[in-house]
This record gives sequence, C-alpha cells and structure tokens, in this order.
Amino acid sequence: MTETYKNLIDGNWTGGGELVANINPSDHADVIGHYSAASVADVEQAIAAANRAGAEWGATGLEQRKAALDFIGDELIARCEEIGRVIAREEGKTIPEGKGEAFRSGQFFQYYAAECLRQIGEQAASVRPGVDVEVTREPAGVVGVITPWNFPVAVAAWKIAPALAFGNSVVLKPSETTPASAAILADIIHRSGIPAGVFNMVIGEGHDVGSALAGSPGIDAVTFTGSVAVGRKIAQSAITNMARIQLEMGSKNALVVLNDADMDLAVQCAIGGAFFGTGQKCTASSRLVVEEGIHDEFLERMIAAADALVVGHALDEKTQIGPVVTERQLQQIEGYLQLGKDEGAEIATGGDILELATKGNFMRPAIFTGSNNKMRINREEIFGPVTSVIKVADYDEALAVSNDTDFGLTSGIMTNSLSRARHFKRHSQSGCVMVNLPTAGTDYHVPFGGRKASSYGPREQGTYAKDFYTIVKTSYVGG
Ligand code: NAD
Repeated sequence: MTETYKNLIDGNWTGGGELVANINPSDHADVIGHYSAASVADVEQAIAAANRAGAEWGATGLEQRKAALDFIGDELIARCEEIGRVIAREEGKTIPEGKGEAFRSGQFFQYYAAECLRQIGEQAASVRPGVDVEVTREPAGVVGVITPWNFPVAVAAWKIAPALAFGNSVVLKPSETTPASAAILADIIHRSGIPAGVFNMVIGEGHDVGSALAGSPGIDAVTFTGSVAVGRKIAQSAITNMARIQLEMGSKNALVVLNDADMDLAVQCAIGGAFFGTGQKCTASSRLVVEEGIHDEFLERMIAAADALVVGHALDEKTQIGPVVTERQLQQIEGYLQLGKDEGAEIATGGDILELATKGNFMRPAIFTGSNNKMRINREEIFGPVTSVIKVADYDEALAVSNDTDFGLTSGIMTNSLSRARHFKRHSQSGCVMVNLPTAGTDYHVPFGGRKASSYGPREQGTYAKDFYTIVKTSYVGG
C-alpha cells in the first residue's frame, strides 16, 4: 500500500475523491503514492473555512504568528534531507538540489517569522491643521495560492509564509504533479499551532480545482506561479471578482558572454544556468548570447562540459542532471528539438533520449548552434535541458538580442568590463540582472519577479511582498 495524500480543509484531512497515482520520473515502475482529487465542493468548503478563520488570524498577536512561522521554518530545515529526497523522487531534481530547495523553503518561513515583528505603520503631518494622518496595513483576506511542480515546496513557501505573516488565511492548490512534497508542507503547517481553517490545501488538476479556486468570489487575492497561458486565464477569472492578482510566469532568459569574459567562469555559469534542475527553472539560461570573438571557443568548451554531465536517476548520488518531470513534458521538448532543426538551427550536442537501468524521462543536455533570435526555439519557453548559442557582433547587438523577447524575468552578463556591466545592469529589461553569475539563483530577502509576460502584479519576496498581502489604510483623526 502506498500513501494517500489527502486534502486539508478546516483543520481536517479529507479524502474520498478519485485516487491519482504519483509516478517517479526517474522510474515509471515506482508509484510513490496517490492523491485524493479534491472536488469543486471541497474547494468551496476550503474557501468558506478560510473566510471563517481569517478574521481571527488577522487579529492574532504578532508573537503567535511568529511562533507558528518559526515552527514551520525550523522543521523544514531540520528535515531538509528527508524532504529533499521526496522532492527528488517525485519531481526529478538531484538530491542536493532537493535538499537545497527544502532548506531554502525553511528560510522563507524564518525570514517572514521575523517580519511579523516589523509591521510598523507610518504617521504623516496633515495639510489641515489639527488633523493627524496615519498609514497602516491590514491583511488582504483569503489568498488563493496556485503553484507549479518545478519548485513544489519553495514556491509554495515564498507565498504562504508572507500570507500568514501579514495575517491572511490561505487555500493552497499545489501542482497535481508533485502532491507528496505538498502533503509534507501542509502537514507541517497544520501542526504549527495556527487555528483550523487558516491554512487549507486542495489537490487536483488546474482546469477544475485550480479554476474553481481562482474564480471564486470568496477569494480576495490570487497568487500564481506557472505558465503564461494559465496565468492569463487565472487573471481573467480573478478580475471578475475584483480579486488582487499576482502572477509569476514563463521566461526566455539570456546570458550574454562578451569577448573579455573569464572563460572558465562563463562556461561554469552557462552550464549551471542552462542545465541544472534539468533546465526546468523559470530562471534558466535558455539563450546564450555570445560575442563572435570568443564564440567558437565558448561553444567548444560548452559542448565538452555538457557532454561530461552525468544524467541519471535523481536518487543516485552521482547524478548531476535528473529526468524531465513527465513523459508529456519530454515529448514537448523533443518537439522543440525537431522544430529547431526545421528552423535551420543545428544541435551541437545532446537531445538524445537515454535508456538507463530504470525507465525514466532522461534526456542528454542539448545545445543549439547556428540559431538566431527570430526562431521559435529562442522565443518560446522550452522548459527542459536545452539552450541555444546565439552569435552576435558586439555588445550593442548582445544587449538588443537579450531584450528582444516577450519575457523579462532574469538576464545576465559575463564580462570583466565595469562599464559594460553597469550599462547592462541599467538597460537590461528584466526583473533580476546578474553580473558574472548564472541567471538562476536568487536570494530570499530581496524582491523577485520579472517584466513583460514574465510577471504581473506586485513583486514577491523580501519586504516587497507586503504590497500584495496587505491593504493600505489611511486614517485621519481630527477634533
Ligand atoms: P502550469 O501553468 O501548467 O501550472 C501551474 C499551476 O496552475 C498548477 O498547479 C496547475 O494545476 C494550475 N492550473 C492549470 N490550469 C489552471 C487553470 N485553468 N486555472 C487555475 N489553475 C490552473 O505550470 P507548470 O507546468 O506547473 O510549471 C511550469 C511553468 O511555471 C513554467 O512556465 C515556468 O516558467 C513557470 N514558473 C515561473 C516561475 C516564476 O517565478 N516566474 C517560477 C517557477 C515556475
């Protein structure tokens, strides 16, 4: 018998829905467990519970909120090894990547535990004599949290932690692809001492459970991370109820490599940014924009480094690149490899499907060469272990190509020129800009988010999160 992951509604674990298998992407014969699919009625009950419990939580003393968040953060960190293995088994990250995600998730809760005690308002002088003006913040209300599979615990953590810290109640709809790690997170939150109904979780597919949550008039705010297509639908339904919306979506991040870059560092950052996490990161370097003076050497070194990466079962200690998350996703990536060839690009290395000891979704990291920025492979999110090298004549063209995209989450530049680095930092049209660092990898105490189709609404993380999770009130006192 495998474990069944249930829904958490008003403090009770409820099952009874259709049981859906959770399959290990490294080994299709390994059924990790089953989730009990929530119904639309379950979603409505969870929202009703969050509405009932929200007022009490919003009025709770700050130390009680802090204690709950500390409890969650400390347990995530103490159990990061175990939770990391669960993430590796169901999502396909390597063990160090899974452990790192669980650890970082704990840090989000610890950070917002401290923020509980920093909720201090402002006072202003009035333009009218004898009047006092005060600016305070109140909880946004019931927050619907809809998350993707690629960081199943971390994305949920960076949304739930500020939501609870600022006095909101939550209904989480995790990705149906990663229910095991969501169930662990929900269990820890459930045991943290928060009142029943403040945190609820409903597991199921997006088209029914997700859309019932996003479109409910009982929700005050919806925070979503996932694809642009789904983000658009969620925004449209949430706006009919005038709910607040925060969307973090796709990307096509460019790493610019200039002639004067430190070549070892450039290759190291490009390999890590493009392929770690099996390239399934919203911050992945999917376009490597390379100045022509070093193009050939860079490409040669990239091919050698990519070929040396060990692709394998995520739970094997030697593995550097785990499987693609699902067979469907693997087929989609294969489709893009074919499309790239049809568009006239060449695959310099990789892209082959690997048959290993267990049947899984294994693909050797692929590098496109001879591509240009007009091709669909360089405009659409592939979301897998695939990157393109795009040759440019000079820095100006590199910057133009980097910005010539519908997205704008992260970007990076590898250079030893301070003036180029400063110019890029100012003119790159992305939410996060990296200099001599991979495009992936951000801190947890500063804002995270993008521009254009990558993000919509206020920033996540750091103190900026309060702009989404709180409502500002301006009070005037006269007399
Ligand atoms: P997805 O959009 O398919 O699904 C995300 C979530 O939305 C899942 O929980 C899914 O069940 C739900 N959903 C699907 N249809 C829905 C609907 N009609 N209504 C409501 N909810 C619905 O994304 P995914 O495949 O899980 O994740 C990969 C995507 O996430 C990539 O595009 C990636 O770039 C993006 N992502 C972005 C960031 C960021 O911060 N910008 C971070 C991680 C992942």
